[in-house]
Amino acid sequence: CGVFGAYRVDNAASITYYGLHSLQHRGQEASGIAVSDGENITLQKGKGLTVDVFQREKLDSMVGRLAVGHVRYSTAGGQENENIQPIVSKGHNGSLAIVHNGQIVNEKELRIELENEGAIFQGTSDSEIILHLIQKQKGTLKERVMKTANRIEGAFSFLVMNEDTIYAVRDRHGLRPLSYAKSKDGYVISSETCAFEVMGIYESVDLKPGEIVEFHKGIVKHEFYSTNTDNHMCAMEYIYFARPDSVVEGINVHAFRKATGSILAREDKDLHADIVIGVPDSSLSAAIGYAEEAGIPFETGLIKNRYVGRTFIQPTQAMRDRSVRLKLSPVSSVVKGKSIVMIDDSIVRGTTSRRIVQLLKDAGATQVHVRIASPVITSPCFYGVDTSTKDQLIGAKMSVEEIRDYIHADTLRFMTEEEMKEATHGVGLCLACFNGEYCTKLFSYQEELDK
Ligand code: 5GP
Ligand code: SF4
Ligand code: MG
Repeated sequence: CGVFGAYRVDNAASITYYGLHSLQHRGQEASGIAVSDGENITLQKGKGLTVDVFQREKLDSMVGRLAVGHVRYSTAGGQENENIQPIVSKGHNGSLAIVHNGQIVNEKELRIELENEGAIFQGTSDSEIILHLIQKQKGTLKERVMKTANRIEGAFSFLVMNEDTIYAVRDRHGLRPLSYAKSKDGYVISSETCAFEVMGIYESVDLKPGEIVEFHKGIVKHEFYSTNTDNHMCAMEYIYFARPDSVVEGINVHAFRKATGSILAREDKDLHADIVIGVPDSSLSAAIGYAEEAGIPFETGLIKNRYVGRTFIQPTQAMRDRSVRLKLSPVSSVVKGKSIVMIDDSIVRGTTSRRIVQLLKDAGATQVHVRIASPVITSPCFYGVDTSTKDQLIGAKMSVEEIRDYIHADTLRFMTEEEMKEATHGVGLCLACFNGEYCTKLFSYQEELDK
């Protein structure tokens, strides 16, 4: 998911709309904006892309200088309307709107506890739990948010807004990114820095793990709600999720991906292919890096139809299968008679690579050498990326040689964890889906893992 916030900014709803548009790659299922005019919070949300949910008249009707918005990609919780964010509560002490990116791993335990105390939930998303926990604590809003952040475990970057204040909070492991920047009139907050650049803002501040930032009375205040912190930025943010123009923990995503490509090429000294191609869009940077290092021409061997959403987001396997075919076509004049190095960012179920190798061979490629710009995914993610359950992960069931055979590649190689670390220059990473080392307790999700 992606979150965006605007504090003391003219036309906050419109600014948030542009912000969400730049974060659309983080979720296409649903989109929503809550805006405060200082006294009341109004909410608009719906299924679909930001451009489809919001029209000019709708945005113009959303008056106010504070706003929070969300683009949704469901991992925990289903796709029903009740789970679309922002989620807004109306209490005796005012309203609260929340937008959340990540996944809370003690969600089930907290839900049961809250229900036993009389809470009634509208939906099944874990974000609603945060709101209930905030409402239930004692103290000022800031104290309540801080206490809540200490009760939830897992991945979360969330924004909470009341009539006149916004709090931005990042989990103590730093699993999901969150940054803010000074704008002309106020502040903007975003899951990724690419949203700032769209607004012509080139300087931003990353929240640190365990940090809460308060935007109140025009002043920004940093505080830690926890000192028990570590650094586990999701490696998949670099590999696949984030936009190439974003900077995550000081590292530009495109630069990271180019580095992975060049590292892959470094290990391929004896491979003499004719061209290097990437699977658009997320693997193009890595393919450029590979081509540069190997001295083999980078070519456009595959064209992506931009009007099909991200393959992975489609909820059923049948829908996924169909959309891979609609989405990518080989350029036969480029690939015919060629020995090809094909770079993809990751293999999850193996669907994409298998299809593409077939497409390339059908179009006349003589050899297809597949290089994956990440290690083998062997474990599920419980921190907000849908890398699926263990029984669907091809890397959990097959050896690299078996995967090579399954996808019909001539050769296949993945990166190692050490190479990933090399490409991020020592940024602390979560690599749990590659090595099974989760940085939190998994609570009820442990069962899924032990199956
Ligand atoms: P597969 O087809 O092997 O199941 O999935 C791998 C492909 O899905 C890659 O091409 C990757 O770009 C794409 N993909 C889409 N969404 C995700 C995601 O959330 N995580 C990962 N690792 N890959 C994804
Ligand atoms: Fe990211 Fe993988 Fe860690 Fe999930 S398990 S947070 S996808 S690195
Ligand atoms: Mg891809």
